[in-house]
Amino acid sequence: MRLKAIKVEGRWGTFLRCPRCGMLFKDQKQYSRHVNKAHRHLFKKEE
Ligand SMILES: [Zn+2]
Repeated sequence: MRLKAIKVEGRWGTFLRCPRCGMLFKDQKQYSRHVNKAHRHLFKKEE
């Protein structure tokens, strides 16, 4: 399962919003980093 970013059109361009916590990111790279850091537990496979 992947966390899909919500695209937000803003005055300064398109931003990505994290659906879990609502944080905004400027690009996919930053968003991916955030998800990996903050929500990584969501993607852990059951062992
Ligand atoms: Zn988040």
